[in-house]
Amino acid sequence: MASLYHRARVMTCTGSDADPLGLIANGAVLTDGGHIVWVGDAVDAAAACRALDVLPGERVDLGGRLLTPGLIDCHTHAIFAGDRAAEFALRARGASYLEIAAAGGGIAATLAPTRAAADATLERLTIDRLLAARATGTTTMEVKSGYDLTVAGELRLLRVIAHAGARAPLAVVPTLLCHVVPPERRSDRAAYVRELVEVLVPTVAADRLATSVDVYCDDGAFTRDETAAILGAARNAGLGVRAHVGQFSDHGAAELCAELGALSVDHLEQVSPAAIAALAAAGTVAVMLPGACVQLRLPPPPVAALRAAGVPLAVASDLNPGSSYASSLPVQMWLATTHFSMSVEEAWLGVTRIAARALGLVDRGLLVPGARADLVVWNAEHPAEIPYRYGSNLVDRVVTA
Ligand SMILES: [Zn+2]
Repeated sequence: MASLYHRARVMTCTGSDADPLGLIANGAVLTDGGHIVWVGDAVDAAAACRALDVLPGERVDLGGRLLTPGLIDCHTHAIFAGDRAAEFALRARGASYLEIAAAGGGIAATLAPTRAAADATLERLTIDRLLAARATGTTTMEVKSGYDLTVAGELRLLRVIAHAGARAPLAVVPTLLCHVVPPERRSDRAAYVRELVEVLVPTVAADRLATSVDVYCDDGAFTRDETAAILGAARNAGLGVRAHVGQFSDHGAAELCAELGALSVDHLEQVSPAAIAALAAAGTVAVMLPGACVQLRLPPPPVAALRAAGVPLAVASDLNPGSSYASSLPVQMWLATTHFSMSVEEAWLGVTRIAARALGLVDRGLLVPGARADLVVWNAEHPAEIPYRYGSNLVDRVVTA
Protein backbone atom coordinates (compact mmCIF):
# COMPACT_ATOMS: atom_id res chain seq x y z
CA MET A 1 0.00 0.00 0.00
CA ALA A 2 1.25 3.49 -0.84
CA SER A 3 1.38 6.00 2.02
CA LEU A 4 1.66 9.77 1.96
CA TYR A 5 3.14 11.40 5.05
CA HIS A 6 2.46 15.13 4.90
CA ARG A 7 2.52 18.33 6.98
CA ALA A 8 5.90 17.19 8.29
CA ARG A 9 9.24 18.83 8.98
CA VAL A 10 11.17 16.47 6.75
CA MET A 11 14.87 15.82 7.42
CA THR A 12 16.24 14.24 4.25
CA CYS A 13 19.90 14.03 5.42
CA THR A 14 20.91 14.91 1.86
CA GLY A 15 21.95 18.47 2.66
CA SER A 16 24.79 20.77 1.73
CA ASP A 17 27.32 22.55 3.95
CA ALA A 18 24.80 25.36 4.46
CA ASP A 19 21.99 22.98 5.42
CA PRO A 20 23.58 19.65 6.34
CA LEU A 21 20.32 17.96 7.30
CA GLY A 22 18.39 18.97 4.17
CA LEU A 23 15.30 20.15 6.04
CA ILE A 24 11.98 20.80 4.30
CA ALA A 25 9.78 22.98 6.54
CA ASN A 26 6.41 21.79 5.22
CA GLY A 27 7.37 18.55 3.58
CA ALA A 28 5.87 15.27 2.44
CA VAL A 29 7.16 11.76 1.77
CA LEU A 30 5.42 9.22 -0.48
CA THR A 31 6.21 5.54 -0.01
CA ASP A 32 5.15 2.53 -2.05
CA GLY A 33 6.14 -1.11 -1.87
CA GLY A 34 8.65 -0.63 0.94
CA HIS A 35 10.48 2.21 -0.79
CA ILE A 36 10.34 5.98 -0.90
CA VAL A 37 9.06 7.13 -4.28
CA TRP A 38 8.92 10.90 -3.77
CA VAL A 39 10.07 13.55 -1.26
CA GLY A 40 9.31 17.24 -1.53
CA ASP A 41 7.27 20.22 -0.45
CA ALA A 42 3.78 19.22 0.75
CA VAL A 43 2.12 21.60 -1.71
CA ASP A 44 3.57 19.54 -4.59
CA ALA A 45 2.47 16.16 -3.23
CA ALA A 46 -0.81 15.85 -5.15
CA ALA A 47 0.88 16.64 -8.45
CA ALA A 48 3.65 14.15 -7.65
CA CYS A 49 1.10 11.39 -6.97
CA ARG A 50 -0.56 12.06 -10.32
CA ALA A 51 2.73 12.20 -12.19
CA LEU A 52 3.88 8.92 -10.64
CA ASP A 53 0.42 7.37 -10.98
CA VAL A 54 0.42 6.39 -7.29
CA LEU A 55 -2.81 6.53 -5.31
CA PRO A 56 -1.97 6.65 -1.57
CA GLY A 57 -3.99 4.15 0.45
CA GLU A 58 -3.33 6.24 3.55
CA ARG A 59 -2.60 9.91 4.09
CA VAL A 60 -0.89 10.60 7.40
CA ASP A 61 -1.06 14.20 8.67
CA LEU A 62 1.97 14.63 10.93
CA GLY A 63 0.87 18.03 12.28
CA GLY A 64 4.29 19.64 11.85
CA ARG A 65 6.24 16.82 13.54
CA LEU A 66 9.80 15.98 12.55
CA LEU A 67 10.09 13.10 10.06
CA THR A 68 13.55 11.58 9.63
CA PRO A 69 15.20 8.50 8.16
CA GLY A 70 15.13 5.50 10.49
CA LEU A 71 18.21 5.46 12.71
CA ILE A 72 21.05 3.08 11.91
CA ASP A 73 23.12 1.60 14.73
CA CYS A 74 26.34 0.53 12.99
CA HIS A 75 28.13 -1.01 16.01
CA THR A 76 26.48 -3.37 18.50
CA HIS A 77 27.22 -6.59 20.36
CA ALA A 78 23.53 -7.37 20.81
CA ILE A 79 23.87 -11.16 21.08
CA PHE A 80 25.00 -12.33 24.51
CA ALA A 81 23.69 -13.97 27.67
CA GLY A 82 24.24 -12.87 31.27
CA ASP A 83 25.18 -9.43 32.51
CA ARG A 84 28.14 -7.74 34.19
CA ALA A 85 26.42 -5.47 36.68
CA ALA A 86 28.97 -6.47 39.34
CA GLU A 87 31.75 -5.09 37.11
CA PHE A 88 29.84 -1.85 36.75
CA ALA A 89 29.78 -1.58 40.53
CA LEU A 90 33.53 -2.31 40.71
CA ARG A 91 34.27 0.36 38.12
CA ALA A 92 32.10 2.81 40.02
CA ARG A 93 34.46 2.21 42.97
CA GLY A 94 37.51 2.91 40.80
CA ALA A 95 38.59 -0.38 39.17
CA SER A 96 39.59 -0.05 35.51
CA TYR A 97 38.25 -2.09 32.58
CA LEU A 98 41.66 -3.64 31.94
CA GLU A 99 42.14 -4.52 35.64
CA ILE A 100 38.75 -6.23 35.68
CA ALA A 101 39.56 -8.11 32.46
CA ALA A 102 42.92 -9.25 33.88
CA ALA A 103 41.07 -10.66 36.93
CA GLY A 104 38.85 -12.86 34.72
CA GLY A 105 36.05 -10.37 34.17
CA GLY A 106 35.40 -8.44 30.98
CA ILE A 107 34.68 -10.24 27.72
CA ALA A 108 35.75 -13.60 29.20
CA ALA A 109 32.98 -13.28 31.82
CA THR A 110 30.33 -13.20 29.08
CA LEU A 111 31.69 -16.31 27.33
CA ALA A 112 30.39 -18.91 29.79
CA PRO A 113 26.74 -17.76 29.91
CA THR A 114 26.66 -17.22 26.15
CA ARG A 115 28.19 -20.61 25.37
CA ALA A 116 25.77 -22.27 27.81
CA ALA A 117 22.64 -20.56 26.45
CA ALA A 118 20.40 -22.48 24.06
CA ASP A 119 19.79 -21.08 20.59
CA ALA A 120 16.20 -20.20 21.50
CA THR A 121 17.36 -18.28 24.59
CA LEU A 122 19.94 -16.28 22.67
CA GLU A 123 17.42 -15.58 19.93
CA ARG A 124 14.85 -14.29 22.43
CA LEU A 125 17.43 -12.10 24.22
CA THR A 126 18.58 -10.66 20.88
CA ILE A 127 15.05 -9.99 19.64
CA ASP A 128 14.22 -8.24 22.93
CA ARG A 129 17.23 -5.94 22.40
CA LEU A 130 16.29 -5.31 18.77
CA LEU A 131 12.75 -4.35 19.82
CA ALA A 132 14.07 -2.01 22.52
CA ALA A 133 16.26 -0.30 19.93
CA ARG A 134 13.37 0.03 17.49
CA ALA A 135 11.29 1.70 20.17
CA THR A 136 13.86 4.54 20.27
CA GLY A 137 14.01 4.91 16.49
CA THR A 138 16.48 2.30 15.22
CA THR A 139 15.42 0.63 11.97
CA THR A 140 18.74 -0.99 10.99
CA MET A 141 21.04 -2.58 13.54
CA GLU A 142 24.42 -4.14 13.01
CA VAL A 143 24.96 -7.13 15.32
CA LYS A 144 28.40 -8.61 15.90
CA SER A 145 29.18 -12.14 17.03
CA GLY A 146 32.13 -12.42 19.41
CA TYR A 147 31.02 -13.88 22.76
CA ASP A 148 31.77 -17.53 22.03
CA LEU A 149 35.14 -17.36 20.27
CA THR A 150 35.29 -21.01 19.13
CA VAL A 151 34.87 -21.56 15.39
CA ALA A 152 31.68 -23.61 15.83
CA GLY A 153 30.33 -21.24 18.46
CA GLU A 154 30.86 -18.10 16.40
CA LEU A 155 29.11 -19.77 13.45
CA ARG A 156 26.23 -20.63 15.80
CA LEU A 157 25.96 -17.02 17.01
CA LEU A 158 25.83 -15.77 13.41
CA ARG A 159 23.04 -18.25 12.59
CA VAL A 160 21.06 -17.12 15.64
CA ILE A 161 21.58 -13.47 14.61
CA ALA A 162 20.12 -14.35 11.19
CA HIS A 163 17.10 -16.01 12.79
CA ALA A 164 16.53 -13.08 15.16
CA GLY A 165 16.84 -10.64 12.27
CA ALA A 166 14.31 -12.56 10.20
CA ARG A 167 11.77 -12.39 13.04
CA ALA A 168 12.29 -8.79 14.21
CA PRO A 169 10.63 -5.78 12.55
CA LEU A 170 13.87 -4.06 11.63
CA ALA A 171 16.87 -4.80 9.42
CA VAL A 172 19.82 -6.66 10.95
CA VAL A 173 23.33 -6.53 9.50
CA PRO A 174 25.50 -9.41 10.81
CA THR A 175 29.24 -8.99 11.42
CA LEU A 176 31.80 -11.64 12.40
CA LEU A 177 33.79 -10.19 15.29
CA CYS A 178 37.16 -11.68 16.19
CA HIS A 179 36.98 -10.29 19.70
CA VAL A 180 39.83 -11.70 21.82
CA VAL A 181 41.83 -14.92 22.09
CA PRO A 182 39.73 -17.15 24.38
CA PRO A 183 41.33 -18.06 27.74
CA GLU A 184 41.64 -21.75 26.80
CA ARG A 185 43.63 -20.88 23.65
CA ARG A 186 46.12 -18.39 25.10
CA SER A 187 48.87 -21.02 25.14
CA ASP A 188 48.51 -21.62 21.39
CA ARG A 189 47.29 -18.28 20.11
CA ALA A 190 49.14 -18.60 16.78
CA ALA A 191 47.18 -21.78 16.02
CA TYR A 192 43.96 -20.04 17.09
CA VAL A 193 44.57 -17.12 14.74
CA ARG A 194 45.35 -19.62 11.94
CA GLU A 195 41.95 -21.26 12.57
CA LEU A 196 40.23 -17.90 12.25
CA VAL A 197 42.07 -17.16 9.00
CA GLU A 198 41.82 -20.61 7.41
CA VAL A 199 38.47 -21.91 8.68
CA LEU A 200 36.19 -19.35 10.34
CA VAL A 201 36.47 -16.43 7.92
CA PRO A 202 36.17 -18.55 4.74
CA THR A 203 33.19 -20.47 6.19
CA VAL A 204 31.40 -17.25 7.14
CA ALA A 205 31.91 -15.96 3.60
CA ALA A 206 30.87 -19.22 1.92
CA ASP A 207 27.71 -19.54 4.05
CA ARG A 208 26.95 -15.79 3.75
CA LEU A 209 26.64 -15.48 7.52
CA ALA A 210 28.07 -11.96 7.70
CA THR A 211 28.83 -9.07 5.39
CA SER A 212 31.92 -7.86 7.26
CA VAL A 213 34.66 -9.04 9.58
CA ASP A 214 35.66 -6.91 12.56
CA VAL A 215 38.76 -7.40 14.71
CA TYR A 216 39.38 -5.95 18.17
CA CYS A 217 42.98 -4.70 18.01
CA ASP A 218 44.01 -3.38 21.41
CA ASP A 219 45.65 -4.22 24.73
CA GLY A 220 44.46 -7.67 25.82
CA ALA A 221 42.95 -8.40 22.39
CA PHE A 222 44.58 -9.00 18.97
CA THR A 223 47.93 -7.56 17.88
CA ARG A 224 48.38 -5.52 14.73
CA ASP A 225 49.96 -8.47 12.88
CA GLU A 226 47.14 -10.82 13.92
CA THR A 227 44.62 -8.18 12.86
CA ALA A 228 46.35 -7.86 9.47
CA ALA A 229 46.16 -11.64 8.93
CA ILE A 230 42.46 -11.89 9.85
CA LEU A 231 41.35 -8.80 7.91
CA GLY A 232 43.47 -9.85 4.93
CA ALA A 233 41.61 -13.18 4.89
CA ALA A 234 38.31 -11.30 5.13
CA ARG A 235 39.14 -9.12 2.16
CA ASN A 236 40.29 -12.12 0.14
CA ALA A 237 36.95 -13.77 0.90
CA GLY A 238 35.08 -10.73 -0.41
CA LEU A 239 33.91 -9.52 3.00
CA GLY A 240 33.93 -5.95 4.28
CA VAL A 241 36.61 -5.01 6.78
CA ARG A 242 36.20 -3.14 10.08
CA ALA A 243 38.12 -2.92 13.35
CA HIS A 244 37.93 -1.83 16.97
CA VAL A 245 40.94 0.49 17.09
CA GLY A 246 42.70 2.59 19.72
CA GLN A 247 40.20 2.28 22.56
CA PHE A 248 43.00 1.94 25.10
CA SER A 249 46.25 2.06 23.07
CA ASP A 250 47.26 2.90 19.51
CA HIS A 251 48.63 -0.29 17.94
CA GLY A 252 48.75 1.16 14.42
CA ALA A 253 45.64 -0.65 13.23
CA ALA A 254 43.97 2.51 11.89
CA GLU A 255 46.69 2.87 9.24
CA LEU A 256 46.33 -0.85 8.45
CA CYS A 257 42.57 -0.44 8.03
CA ALA A 258 43.02 2.55 5.75
CA GLU A 259 45.41 0.49 3.59
CA LEU A 260 42.83 -2.30 3.39
CA GLY A 261 40.05 0.12 2.39
CA ALA A 262 38.11 -0.63 5.58
CA LEU A 263 34.50 0.44 5.87
CA SER A 264 35.09 1.77 9.38
CA VAL A 265 37.41 2.00 12.34
CA ASP A 266 35.63 2.23 15.66
CA HIS A 267 36.51 3.84 19.06
CA LEU A 268 39.69 5.84 18.14
CA GLU A 269 40.28 7.35 21.57
CA GLN A 270 43.98 6.85 20.72
CA VAL A 271 44.92 7.60 17.11
CA SER A 272 47.91 9.37 15.52
CA PRO A 273 47.77 12.37 13.13
CA ALA A 274 49.28 10.16 10.40
CA ALA A 275 46.49 7.61 10.87
CA ILE A 276 43.85 10.34 10.69
CA ALA A 277 45.29 11.51 7.36
CA ALA A 278 45.32 7.91 6.07
CA LEU A 279 41.68 7.37 7.10
CA ALA A 280 40.63 10.59 5.37
CA ALA A 281 42.43 9.57 2.16
CA ALA A 282 40.82 6.12 2.25
CA GLY A 283 37.32 7.45 2.99
CA THR A 284 37.06 5.12 5.99
CA VAL A 285 34.33 6.05 8.49
CA ALA A 286 35.34 6.72 12.11
CA VAL A 287 32.65 5.32 14.40
CA MET A 288 32.31 7.27 17.63
CA LEU A 289 31.15 5.25 20.65
CA PRO A 290 30.60 7.86 23.36
CA GLY A 291 28.62 5.62 25.73
CA ALA A 292 31.52 3.21 26.20
CA CYS A 293 34.01 6.08 26.35
CA VAL A 294 32.14 7.85 29.13
CA GLN A 295 31.40 4.69 31.08
CA LEU A 296 35.07 3.60 31.01
CA ARG A 297 36.16 7.19 31.80
CA LEU A 298 38.42 7.32 28.76
CA PRO A 299 39.52 10.55 27.11
CA PRO A 300 37.31 11.43 24.10
CA PRO A 301 38.65 10.76 20.59
CA PRO A 302 40.21 13.71 18.71
CA VAL A 303 36.95 14.73 17.04
CA ALA A 304 38.21 18.17 15.96
CA ALA A 305 41.22 16.65 14.18
CA LEU A 306 39.07 13.96 12.53
CA ARG A 307 36.61 16.62 11.38
CA ALA A 308 39.37 18.93 10.10
CA ALA A 309 40.88 16.07 8.09
CA GLY A 310 37.51 15.22 6.54
CA VAL A 311 37.06 11.78 8.11
CA PRO A 312 33.33 10.87 8.03
CA LEU A 313 31.97 10.45 11.58
CA ALA A 314 29.33 7.92 12.60
CA VAL A 315 27.85 7.49 16.08
CA ALA A 316 26.79 4.11 17.48
CA SER A 317 25.62 2.53 20.73
CA ASP A 318 28.29 -0.20 21.15
CA LEU A 319 25.45 -2.05 22.93
CA ASN A 320 27.32 -4.68 24.98
CA PRO A 321 27.18 -6.13 28.50
CA GLY A 322 30.51 -4.67 29.66
CA SER A 323 30.88 -1.01 28.76
CA SER A 324 27.60 0.21 27.23
CA TYR A 325 24.45 -1.76 28.03
CA ALA A 326 22.13 0.61 26.16
CA SER A 327 20.60 0.64 22.69
CA SER A 328 19.16 4.17 22.51
CA LEU A 329 20.83 6.17 19.74
CA PRO A 330 19.24 9.44 20.98
CA VAL A 331 21.21 8.94 24.22
CA GLN A 332 24.40 8.43 22.17
CA MET A 333 23.58 11.59 20.19
CA TRP A 334 23.36 13.48 23.48
CA LEU A 335 26.77 12.15 24.57
CA ALA A 336 28.24 12.88 21.11
CA THR A 337 27.05 16.49 21.24
CA THR A 338 28.08 17.10 24.83
CA HIS A 339 31.06 14.89 25.70
CA PHE A 340 32.51 14.61 22.15
CA SER A 341 31.76 18.20 21.03
CA MET A 342 30.04 17.07 17.84
CA SER A 343 27.42 19.37 16.33
CA VAL A 344 23.76 18.38 16.31
CA GLU A 345 24.02 18.01 12.53
CA GLU A 346 27.07 15.72 12.84
CA ALA A 347 25.28 13.58 15.43
CA TRP A 348 22.22 13.22 13.16
CA LEU A 349 24.25 12.33 10.07
CA GLY A 350 26.30 9.98 12.28
CA VAL A 351 23.25 7.84 13.06
CA THR A 352 21.80 8.01 9.54
CA ARG A 353 23.74 8.60 6.32
CA ILE A 354 27.25 8.07 7.67
CA ALA A 355 26.20 5.04 9.72
CA ALA A 356 24.84 3.48 6.51
CA ARG A 357 28.19 4.10 4.86
CA ALA A 358 30.00 2.38 7.76
CA LEU A 359 27.93 -0.71 6.93
CA GLY A 360 28.46 -0.41 3.18
CA LEU A 361 24.74 0.32 2.63
CA VAL A 362 23.55 2.88 0.07
CA ASP A 363 19.79 2.34 0.25
CA ARG A 364 19.05 3.92 3.64
CA GLY A 365 20.04 6.67 6.04
CA LEU A 366 18.53 9.38 3.85
CA LEU A 367 15.13 10.24 2.42
CA VAL A 368 15.35 10.08 -1.37
CA PRO A 369 13.40 8.18 -4.03
CA GLY A 370 14.62 4.59 -4.14
CA ALA A 371 15.68 4.43 -0.48
CA ARG A 372 14.03 1.99 1.90
CA ALA A 373 10.88 3.32 3.53
CA ASP A 374 12.46 3.30 7.00
CA LEU A 375 11.06 6.37 8.75
CA VAL A 376 10.77 7.82 12.23
CA VAL A 377 8.20 10.43 13.27
CA TRP A 378 9.26 12.38 16.36
CA ASN A 379 7.19 14.30 18.90
CA ALA A 380 9.49 17.22 18.19
CA GLU A 381 9.92 19.98 15.64
CA HIS A 382 13.62 20.80 15.84
CA PRO A 383 16.40 18.21 15.24
CA ALA A 384 18.24 19.42 18.36
CA GLU A 385 15.34 18.33 20.57
CA ILE A 386 16.28 14.67 20.18
CA PRO A 387 19.70 14.87 21.90
CA TYR A 388 18.60 17.83 24.07
CA ARG A 389 15.74 15.87 25.67
CA TYR A 390 17.76 12.65 25.92
CA GLY A 391 15.90 11.36 28.94
CA SER A 392 12.56 11.22 27.12
CA ASN A 393 11.71 8.90 24.26
CA LEU A 394 10.36 11.36 21.68
CA VAL A 395 9.53 8.69 19.10
CA ASP A 396 5.95 9.06 17.87
CA ARG A 397 6.06 6.14 15.44
CA VAL A 398 8.53 3.99 13.54
CA VAL A 399 7.91 2.72 10.00
CA THR A 400 10.07 -0.06 8.58
CA ALA A 401 10.11 -1.28 5.00
ZN1 LIG B 1 32.42 -2.83 20.21
